[in-house]
Amino acid sequence: MSQTDLSNLWMPFTANKQFKQAPRMLKSAKGMYYTSSDDRQILDGCAGLWCVNAGHGREEIVEAIRDSVGTLDFAPTFQMGHPLAFEAASKVAAVMPEGLDRIFFTNSGSESVDTALKIALAYHRAKGEAQRTRLIGRERGYHGVGFGGISVGGISPNRKTFSANLIPGVDHLPHTYQPTKSSFVKGEPETGADLADELERICALHDPSTIAAVIVEPVAGSTGVLIPPKGYLKRLREITEKHGILLIFDEVITAFGRLGAPTAAEFFGVTPDLITLAKAINNAAIPMGGVAVSRKIHDAVVQAGPEKAIEFFHGYTYSAHPAAAAAAIATQDLYQRDGIFNRVAKLAPHFEQAVHGLRDAPYVKDIRNLGFIGGVELESRPGAPGARAYDVFVKCFEKGLLVRYTGDILAFSPPLIADEAQISEIFDTVGKVLREVA
Ligand code: PMP
Repeated sequence: MSQTDLSNLWMPFTANKQFKQAPRMLKSAKGMYYTSSDDRQILDGCAGLWCVNAGHGREEIVEAIRDSVGTLDFAPTFQMGHPLAFEAASKVAAVMPEGLDRIFFTNSGSESVDTALKIALAYHRAKGEAQRTRLIGRERGYHGVGFGGISVGGISPNRKTFSANLIPGVDHLPHTYQPTKSSFVKGEPETGADLADELERICALHDPSTIAAVIVEPVAGSTGVLIPPKGYLKRLREITEKHGILLIFDEVITAFGRLGAPTAAEFFGVTPDLITLAKAINNAAIPMGGVAVSRKIHDAVVQAGPEKAIEFFHGYTYSAHPAAAAAAIATQDLYQRDGIFNRVAKLAPHFEQAVHGLRDAPYVKDIRNLGFIGGVELESRPGAPGARAYDVFVKCFEKGLLVRYTGDILAFSPPLIADEAQISEIFDTVGKVLREVA
């Protein structure tokens, strides 16, 4: 590692100066573990970045990629097709909620979000409602880093830096975190469904017939694990339906088993009109994202297009890249064969107990969880927000555990193949580190 020149790479979402003084490097991965460049086994407490749901280095996926690259290195999917693209769409569609079986492929979650917002606008236009252009996001929402995503997203540093250039006509619902009512609640908070009624207020303010879509993460992940109050998403669905507004679930984190069901939509029993996907779609083995779209929307856009002309002027060079598609097919097969989503449903009670076992550890201010997602909020060090969680993150890495942090919230999302002992080890290690830093 000492030979690696660190100067050229501008690292994303990283304190570059600090990192380069004391780099943390990973060189290989298998199952639940990374191997660091100094040959230590690092237990993966966050599935890479909430994405390696089937665990690392799965032979079936690696083989599928190898085969596809050797056979068809690249093929355009503009006015051309290749079988892997169609097969990948069928496999993904098979685990989406009933009716959301038209799949548009992208290469990342950010692209999926921008694609979904554009599909929503194209749909209303195709239906003769071109005045429906307003988009509604939510405070503390994370929808990637494209201009569409940061506009509907609700993260203030993202928005402040670019405030003059955000897309116009966007409003935000309030976030659903109610610390005084729901601290240390296990799973879904009982109160707060009425926060969805804020949408009625926005409708009254703007005239609902100008609103195209509402986008929310069913469970907000990157902004600190915010679990929706019971009934909240159902209420959002009722209000959007009543006003002809499309509902988009950003399931970049929650799809493909994270909650113990194929999608959060299925877990919560609420079917949106579009679902954004990425990450675990192909176990993150190669970049890929997608949008699952209802037949109603797809057909309206496609049928409204003039004969022989392109109906939806959108796509990426690498949409359904053969290697990404091959990885998606192998991944979806593997999820089914190993019953990975059911595993999470079975082990979620253990995960819940383990994360809430940190309740009495130093600095712990709140704990939140659902499925294989956990968030532990720490009291901030006075005058240095984020510093305490950063220290915990660094010390965990030293002790052989990879965790995520955002502000002073630690986030946990292990691969879905984690067993009870590994889940316990994650939170035992964090407990030890918290006592050490205290
Ligand atoms: N949406 C959500 C809900 C996400 O969690 C993320 C990434 N964590 C994104 C969008 C952006 O995905 P990407 O980083 O692949 O662009």
